[in-house]
Order: sequence, then structure tokens, then C-alpha cells
Amino acid sequence: MDPRFIDTIPSLSYNDDKCDDEYAFVKALCMSGGDGTNSYSTNSRLQRKVLTMAKPVLVKTTEEMMMSLDFPTYIKVAELGCSSGQNTFLAISEIINTISVLCQHVNKNPPEIDCCLNDLPENDFNTTFKFVPFFNKELMITSKASCFVYGAPGSFYSRLFSRNSLHIIHSSYALHWLSKVPEKLENNKGNVYITSSSPQSAYKAYLNQFQKDFSMFLRLRSEEIVSNGRMVLTFIGRNTLNDPLYRDCCHFWTLLSKSLRDLLFEGLVSESKLDAFNMPFYDPNVQELKQVIRNEGSFEINELETHGFDLGHSNYEEDDYEAGHDEANCIRAVSEPMLVAHFGEDIIDTLFDKYAHHVTQHANCRNKTTLSLVVSLTKK
Ligand code: SAH
Repeated sequence: MDPRFIDTIPSLSYNDDKCDDEYAFVKALCMSGGDGTNSYSTNSRLQRKVLTMAKPVLVKTTEEMMMSLDFPTYIKVAELGCSSGQNTFLAISEIINTISVLCQHVNKNPPEIDCCLNDLPENDFNTTFKFVPFFNKELMITSKASCFVYGAPGSFYSRLFSRNSLHIIHSSYALHWLSKVPEKLENNKGNVYITSSSPQSAYKAYLNQFQKDFSMFLRLRSEEIVSNGRMVLTFIGRNTLNDPLYRDCCHFWTLLSKSLRDLLFEGLVSESKLDAFNMPFYDPNVQELKQVIRNEGSFEINELETHGFDLGHSNYEEDDYEAGHDEANCIRAVSEPMLVAHFGEDIIDTLFDKYAHHVTQHANCRNKTTLSLVVSLTKK
């Protein structure tokens, strides 16, 4: 790109301070593109399951939105953090079908619907857009809805849509990604995220960043959504209310830290490189999530549900190499671009072989601390 052009881009709230150079890999945050073996599209069955679990809340929220807005003749839907592949269309199909069925029930003409797909500019929108004809065909069969699909590249920590234009917003498994790695993580060496051995300061730094980011998200969306518009958001969260550092021993980022430390031991990565890598991620508990929503003040909580989170390994036999690899591929698909940006491409296959091995060592672990949080909100 012409550097003169870059200079003219206004600075957004995403990645805009000194922390960026230190954590340059955050700019690579996106899921693995395409539809190959290691792509997000091929390795996102967990996220698909999560979308299915959240479906009843989404259906109910959509119906309530239509009724409280008195059946608008035009609806604008936003899918935030849509990624690439078929998952992108699951929630918006559900929203459109719900609207269509409801309109038939009450004998009203269905509205025309604009669907805006948002993700970071690095996202593989090409793969996503290739699914649009299938999506349109399916819709014609199931709901005969008039629907138009648009891309909205950019960070959801910046303004994406014009004022008072959206009626319903959906986002699944995207808002646990932070806008940047928190500052003051110096004492969390050898770990890519919070673990039981991390200092309290690491928890505070992560929580603080999450509070800032999620408040900003709510404020921006409150400008874009109509009064009485709705949002359904699904996060990776945790079920622990007391010890804020505690994560179970097979937490996905704990296993990634372990695998990276294996490579350190084998001389494939340096200590300083490992210490400089921290995930821009936070898994809030219910209290933390509610607190941000209440403090920000633009939205009212209609419902907040929790669901189990299972990458699948609780059903494995120990040393089930294949199953370990399945899970390693899920984590690879969501972290590979950042890992490559920081450590280079050469370590990736070995790293995820180690990861698959660690997964199989935890085949009998129960009492997971990770869960999914689904929240339905109304704009006040
Ligand atoms: N919703 C999809 C994808 C989840 S993966 C599903 O349920 O399968 C999370 C997605 O959020 C990724 O594609 C990532 O690029 C996107 N994402 C992360 N931070 C973002 C941000 N600040 N703005 C927009 N998208 C973001």
C-alpha cells in the first residue's frame, strides 16, 4: 500500500499505542483462512456447537425485537467477528428464518433485510463470500426472504456503522479477543496467559483491559443501534468466582504455554521470545461481565446463560493421538497467524504435535473452569 495513504488513515482505538510495537503479532490476529486441513473453516466445530447452544436465546431475542419495534419493513443485522467459512451464516440464517416465520404467523409482509458481516481486515472474506450463493439459495427455500449481504471490515472496537441504523447485532466467540495485550505483564514469564502460577498483577492487567475494551464496544454499538434494538453476544468465559487466577490444568492456553516451554527446552524458541508472547484474550466470569454492562449503562440485560465448553477431549481415551490432534488443530486454527508472526513458521508443526501430546495426557480431567456465556441485551 502507498505509505502516503497509510499516513492519512485516522488512528482508530484498535492497537494505537506504544504496546503495539512490543506486541506486533496482535496485528496478525485472525483465524487461519481458506478451507484446507488447518483452516478455521475446517476446524471450527466447537464454535458451531456453541452457536447451536445459543440458538434458543437468539430466536427469542429476534422475536422480541420484531414485536417491540412493531414489525419494521426494513431490518439491518450485523454479525461481528464473522470469520471465514460456514459458521458465519448460521446465526444470520436463524435470525432471518425467525423473522420470516413470525411475520407469517401474524400475517405481515416480511421486511427486507441487510446483513453486514464484520471482521478484522485480515480476515479471509473471500472464503466467506464464496458461501453467499449457498446462503441465498437456502434462504429462498426456507423463508423466501429478501436479504442483501455486505462486508464491514474493521475492528469492533471502533465505529463500524452509521448512527441508529442497526436493529439486531450478533457476535459469537469473538469478544473474548482484546484490542491489545495488556501492559504490565512482565512477571508472567513462561506463560502465554493467566495460570494458577501467575501473579495477581497479571489478572488485574487482563481484567482492566477487558473492562476498557468491552465498555468501548458497548458504547460504540449503543450509537449504532436503534432504541429497543437487541444484541446477542457469546463469549468464552470461566465459572470460577473466587480465585481469579485459577484455570483448570488443561485450559487451552495452559497447554499452549506447556508446548512452547517444550520447544524452549529443545532450543527451538528463545526464552525472551516466549516471555514476550501473551494472548490478547480474556475469559470473564458472570460477575465481571454483568459489571461492565451495568457500569457502561446503555444496555439492559434480558438474559444471561452459561453452557459447558468441550473441545472434545473429555471423551478421549488416553494416548488417543488422533483425538489429541483434532483438538490441537482447533487451537491452531485460531492462533496460527499470531504465532507465525511472532515465532516464525518453522516451529508450528512441532508445536502442535507437542500440543496434541499434552491433550492426550489430560484425557481423564474433569471439572473444567471454561464455559460459554450467552447474553441477550436491549438498547435502553
Ligand atoms: N463468529 C465465528 C468466528 C469466531 S472466531 C464463529 O462463531 O465461528 C473470532 C473472530 O473474531 C475471528 O475471525 C477474529 O478475526 C474476529 N475478531 C477478533 N477481534 C476482532 C475485532 N476487534 N474486530 C472484529 N473482529 C474481531
